[in-house]
Amino acid sequence: MTINAVVWGENVHEQTNKVVADLYPKGMHQAIADCLNAADGVNATTATLQEPEHGLTKERLAQTDVLFWWGHAAHGDVADEVVERVVEAVWSGMGFVALHSAHFAKPFLRLMGGPCNLTWREAGERERLWLTSRNHPIAAGLPDYFELENEEMYGEPFGVPEPLETVFISWFQGGEVFRSGLTYKRGAGNIFYFRPGHETYPTYHDANVQTVLRNAVKWAHNPARRIANPTDAPNTPVDQALEPIEERGPRLHKDGEEGYR
Ligand code: ZN
Repeated sequence: MTINAVVWGENVHEQTNKVVADLYPKGMHQAIADCLNAADGVNATTATLQEPEHGLTKERLAQTDVLFWWGHAAHGDVADEVVERVVEAVWSGMGFVALHSAHFAKPFLRLMGGPCNLTWREAGERERLWLTSRNHPIAAGLPDYFELENEEMYGEPFGVPEPLETVFISWFQGGEVFRSGLTYKRGAGNIFYFRPGHETYPTYHDANVQTVLRNAVKWAHNPARRIANPTDAPNTPVDQALEPIEERGPRLHKDGEEGYR
């Protein structure tokens, strides 16, 4: 079975900043897709903000097993209609991997339901990522810790809901710590947030980071059939209750009426 991954890139810094363009001549999204395509059984393509519907039509999302998301400078330019489409795809079973500054991406905010805020500093300091779960599939093949010589600092408190699992904790040279690998489930969709990936550093060329990305695409893939209408909220009338019951007391809704939204 092939896992179809789409790497969505905002593709702004690559066009406007020479440091980023030199590090990622084909864009960060393409570098991440190339990394995923090096894994057996993964077919990764890209989509960008600048494409019609940001490259994320309903049809394409229906064919996408796992969506990776990198955004930063243009979160506000992502159309709300596309955001809702992505969120519903996750609820129906699509995997979602939010990378680095995607903590403030509209789909991630919607899926988390929290402020997702954090402290930050752009000083090229060392980041040391510690595994908290040695046999977790996302950590497979990694040493107990690995380091990135230059990264942006993200510090706690991180304004996200308590995750299902914390897979990595980062320490930064300046002294802060951060929960840098978190898993969630929303509807039928698996979600992984992975912190490293600041645009002015070669993070996505790092072998350990690439191992995490390739593990994450497999972990986030839900092979079950997608739920056709994940927001369906049907009424079960009295005569269809599993056990015989008699209707008692007053009610507001008439027979067959749709529920309120
Ligand atoms: Zn950054």
